[in-house]
Amino acid sequence: MTKKIAVLPGDGIGSEIIEQAVRVLRAVAPSLEINQAPVGGTAYDLHGHPLPPATLKLAQESNAILFGAVGDWKYDKLPREHRPEQAILGLRKALGLFANLRPAILYPELANASSLKPEIVSGLDILILRELTGDIYFGTPRGIRTATDGPYAGSREGFDTMRYAEPEIRRIAHIGFQAAQKRKGKLCSVDKANVLETSQLWRDVVIEVAKDYPDVALTHMYVDNAAMQLVRSPREFDVIVTGNLFGDILSDEAAMLTGSIGMLPSASLNASGQGLYEPSHGSAPDIAGQGIANPLATILSAAMMLRYSLDSAALADRIEQAVQKVLQQGLRTADIYEPGTTKVGTAAMGDAVLKALA
Ligand code: NAD
Repeated sequence: MTKKIAVLPGDGIGSEIIEQAVRVLRAVAPSLEINQAPVGGTAYDLHGHPLPPATLKLAQESNAILFGAVGDWKYDKLPREHRPEQAILGLRKALGLFANLRPAILYPELANASSLKPEIVSGLDILILRELTGDIYFGTPRGIRTATDGPYAGSREGFDTMRYAEPEIRRIAHIGFQAAQKRKGKLCSVDKANVLETSQLWRDVVIEVAKDYPDVALTHMYVDNAAMQLVRSPREFDVIVTGNLFGDILSDEAAMLTGSIGMLPSASLNASGQGLYEPSHGSAPDIAGQGIANPLATILSAAMMLRYSLDSAALADRIEQAVQKVLQQGLRTADIYEPGTTKVGTAAMGDAVLKALA
């Protein structure tokens, strides 16, 4: 059966980087049905909504979505429901995308881009799996009220609710174990079980799910220690699975270890394997239209799409190897340029990846 993907370029550099990723996809998987639709500010300008019904329908009917980026300062004054970023939230909600996968890979050729010493970080290859639809960001009750008891009675207090139900923990744990099986077979579950009841349940459920995966080595780590270990010896990790709040922080920390935002792909999956794939960076309005954006994070997102939603791991490997090859050849976009390498623009980087594939 022909696999269908929705391509949503979005705003800023979105269309420039997506163009290169689509060229690569067409080269490795010519039978893919590729349909494009507007999203974000571009869609608001055309249809008065950042996620028009036709775009949402296309996304729902596709096996996977390749997403560029949305946002521009010029939309900052719009009411919240019309801001470009609402498109991502709307897609996450409509498709039930609860699992966010963010690899942090530091190619040896880019080791100088990291703020850590090359001997600590060179060759880093970890995957952070963050639960995306639960936890303190969505728990109720929440709000700001006047405290009625305790030493601050009569003062205003803010409150939120951290909560996870067992099925939510179970489904993200399964994804974590399965991802570890496809990698080095190590899963580290990060929580704060020494202090939080939610984390105690998280840990208990992860241990139960582990019985289904005897081939994966499971460890547990408190989030404060995980934050330290990520900068002390990040290569010790393979896959990290954690909740929404801790994952938000740790995935940004891991991304910065690589020092090159233009290189980092991401994926958000639902229970049926349908997923949204996008670079970890934003729409970079400061460089939009100049042909200098780094398309590699988007090309690597397309590779993730082949691996996780389209059951084509071999094609994903080919793309990832081609990216590594162009780096070995010394080609760099401006964001990862260093003296002694060759500076190229967005399209020339796409050309080089296509050539490396052949
Ligand atoms: P950003 O990631 O867009 O840019 C941060 C810096 O990194 C800029 O200097 C930019 O030029 C550079 N950069 C980013 N991607 C690059 C690439 N591929 N190649 C070369 N350089 C690159 O973050 P920001 O400036 O904080 O946000 C800009 C807009 O993007 C905002 O409207 C924000 O809301 C939006 N945003 C969208 C997403 C998304 O679509 N998922 C994510 C983050 C931010």
